[in-house]
Amino acid sequence: MTDDAIRLRSVSRRFGAGGTSVTALDGVSLAFARGTFTAVMGPSGSGKSTLLQCAAGLDRPTSGSVTLGGTELTGLSETRLTLLRRERVGFVFQAFNLLPSLTAEQNVALPLRLAGRRPKRTEVREALRRVGLGDRARHRPAEMSGGQQQRVALARALITRPEVLFGDEPTGALDTHTGRQVLTLLRGMADGEGRTIVMVTHDPVAASYADRVVFLVDGRVNGELAGASAEDIAARMAGLETAPC
Ligand code: ADP
Ligand code: MG
Repeated sequence: MTDDAIRLRSVSRRFGAGGTSVTALDGVSLAFARGTFTAVMGPSGSGKSTLLQCAAGLDRPTSGSVTLGGTELTGLSETRLTLLRRERVGFVFQAFNLLPSLTAEQNVALPLRLAGRRPKRTEVREALRRVGLGDRARHRPAEMSGGQQQRVALARALITRPEVLFGDEPTGALDTHTGRQVLTLLRGMADGEGRTIVMVTHDPVAASYADRVVFLVDGRVNGELAGASAEDIAARMAGLETAPC
């Protein structure tokens, strides 16, 4: 038994073969303790999304291993991996990815339906209330603001009570104010509910909501900061962006 919700050991991910192959991750070893909120930062193309996809069991490393809640993902069949993701992992993306023809409550209920459960209306309404959208249950995505849509996506990710929540630039498409609302919700999920949050972001202010910031450069961990201010994080990022190749 370990206190790490996720552990990556020497994870590499190469795309393609031969002379045109790209090494998106190059020997990444990281552990994410239960109940912590980590931000992942780095220049465009540094492997942030690939790291999240591998950690979430949405993509498979070329080499190395990933453990999620004590389960080794390497070698699991697609079916087992899908079941494990459904039970233990939530994912929110920059583009919300809500189904446009479904209402907020139907979108939120979807993961339960996919898991073969019959969603209870009270359960779905409660999830929407928690993200401050109790009065928007019957609205469709096009009838909501970006911030509201992202909060529906968050409710959808949380309806299965996942141990781990991954966000790939979840505030990237939001204005400052609604972005802060989403970050405060994420912070509360780590503090109040003991969930493990891993979030990719470009925004030093967003990253300052995290306990820890991990910096990636060229598919490698380039260092990390703990409990850092937005200013410290911005200064570190500026150093990375101008680093010679
Ligand atoms: P980031 O999220 O930090 O911008 P990514 O993880 O998306 O970076 O990509 C890291 C590198 O891997 C980039 O060079 C990217 O072009 C490459 N890459 C990512 N996904 C694929 C893919 N499916 N096929 C080929 N190359 C990919
Ligand atoms: Mg990315």
